[in-house]
Amino acid sequence: MQAVQFSGHGDRGVIEYGEYPDLEMGREAVRVDIRAGALNHLDVWTRRGLPGLDLAMPHIPGSDGAGVVVEVGEGVSRFEEGDRVAVSAGINCGDCEFCRHGAPTLCVNFHLLGEHVRGVHAEQAVVHEDNLVSVPEHVDWETAAAAPLVFQTAWRMLVTRAELGPTESVLVLGASGGVGHAAVQIADYVGADVYATASSAEKLDYAEEIGADYTINYETEEFADAIQDLTGKRGVDVVVDHVGAQTWQQSLRSLARGGRLVTCGATTGPSPETDINRIFWNQLEVIGSTMGTPGEVDDVLGLVWDGTFEPRIREVLPMSETARGHELLEEREGFGKVVLKPDSAYNE
Ligand SMILES: [Zn+2]
Repeated sequence: MQAVQFSGHGDRGVIEYGEYPDLEMGREAVRVDIRAGALNHLDVWTRRGLPGLDLAMPHIPGSDGAGVVVEVGEGVSRFEEGDRVAVSAGINCGDCEFCRHGAPTLCVNFHLLGEHVRGVHAEQAVVHEDNLVSVPEHVDWETAAAAPLVFQTAWRMLVTRAELGPTESVLVLGASGGVGHAAVQIADYVGADVYATASSAEKLDYAEEIGADYTINYETEEFADAIQDLTGKRGVDVVVDHVGAQTWQQSLRSLARGGRLVTCGATTGPSPETDINRIFWNQLEVIGSTMGTPGEVDDVLGLVWDGTFEPRIREVLPMSETARGHELLEEREGFGKVVLKPDSAYNE
């Protein structure tokens, strides 16, 4: 089969698309003919290499994908040949203290398809049945592939961890990215006042289209100042930050008293200066969040499948042009998700 792969970490030049040995089945494994995958920033980090990440090479990246079941292994109970499925990338052990307390995303062995183990950006993937969710007939492959990672991440951040309420206000940073554009839609659905930042007028228009009430161009003004102006110096109840070092201080400064900063990533670096005085005096909460539980995945994807939420597609590329997809993410060009299709399925 043909697969996106790399044999060593590095710049976009390490990415290849070519022949890869057929994948072996295992107990409770499902073989899926992949019709579409989607890129996440995680794919860029994995390609560059992360401290402590020791991958079997060549590595197939990709945490998001969707397609048709073509073979089921012994013990598979939830799927059969011909089923339409999407991949949800989180893997937990089921056996540690945290799994046994019903908190799979806190699993001490938590890892992700595509990041720590072989991913799904290939003509076929073989994954455990627990990593699959059903996709209704009316949902197209691009939508099914683009939704799972970012929508479960944003849902857990806002609904479960930050417990955003309908009378509250929320600031979503980087509304043009995958998690950002999911967070804007979810915050709007909850009924909160939604503030969003992006880097261009066009991206801000998109943010408004999908539910932002107020938009801020962070290239032309300090977003914390803009929030102070827009809220009469009150600040917002919740900030969604996946940017990290570059935005941290302004995120704290954007919060109302008793506000919550919820983070799921640090694209610009993990070690910002922080302001402890502001945190204790204003009684702020800093909340971490990662991925989602199977129940959260079911809840949020149900709302994608019924059209309440819509992953925006930035571009659809053949898998042989995966490097171009990474460039779109790294250069922050465009809005929403980059979808990849196996070259053999690209023109279908
Ligand atoms: Zn565990």
